[in-house]
Amino acid sequence: MTKPIKYTKGAAFARDLLLETGFDSLLYYPLDLFANGLGATVISKPLLNSDGRIIFGKKNTLIEINSSIEFERKKRFTLAHEIGHLVMHKGIDVHNDNEATTSWFNNKEKQAQHSKVESEANQFASELLMPSLLFIRQQKGKKFSPQLLRNLSHYFKTSLTSVAFKYLELGDHPICLFHSYNGKVSYWKRPEEFPHFIVDRTKLTVPDDSVAMEFFEKNRIYPKEQSKQQIWKSTWFLVNDWEKDEDYNFHEFAIVTPNYNTVLSVVWED
Ligand SMILES: [Zn+2]
Repeated sequence: MTKPIKYTKGAAFARDLLLETGFDSLLYYPLDLFANGLGATVISKPLLNSDGRIIFGKKNTLIEINSSIEFERKKRFTLAHEIGHLVMHKGIDVHNDNEATTSWFNNKEKQAQHSKVESEANQFASELLMPSLLFIRQQKGKKFSPQLLRNLSHYFKTSLTSVAFKYLELGDHPICLFHSYNGKVSYWKRPEEFPHFIVDRTKLTVPDDSVAMEFFEKNRIYPKEQSKQQIWKSTWFLVNDWEKDEDYNFHEFAIVTPNYNTVLSVVWED
């Protein structure tokens, strides 16, 4: 059975734009040329405290991407995010983006204040780089594992983080995501139909026995082959009186970004 795809506002914009411009995907087309076609000039240069920004002029629009971003895939996601502003949010004069605005895990209050605009640009970027229909096809029939996420990130040329969020929405195997910063949980997300309750630790310390804690406490980052770590159900979820921790088979894959001191924990039951 296939889940019906629910397109958010930003995703629907990207889907329609691809349709109008005649692209199935932008996997083999340079993103800066795509932005040119929409009337923006893309420049790569060092930016202070900012991953990317867009400057709407009277005649021309300029998109600047920070040349010191280490990963090509992150640059690509940032550019896609700015293209989202370009097609959806004309009229703001200058718009700066940094880790806080292009990240997926702004907590809810922040999203409300800081706006719809940012989450729309992220939804747009996700769909532009990973068209939902193609994403569903690419993961179909493949067993869930950290390597599957890495393969998808490689295939779609976008960040592992954005792939994990897309997988939560559209993947065959249910996964939960916990984002933590500096040892504290900042945000979590689970699929609607997920059969276990999460212990809400937002703004609280990550669980002692989580893989995330191993990074914060001991700086431990597992090598690829060991990135699937066994954990207890009780690490992140509520265990009812009638349940036994030993009866469950949960795993955690920690996507660590040491520069920002953040961990995105992907948690699933085998
Ligand atoms: Zn933005």
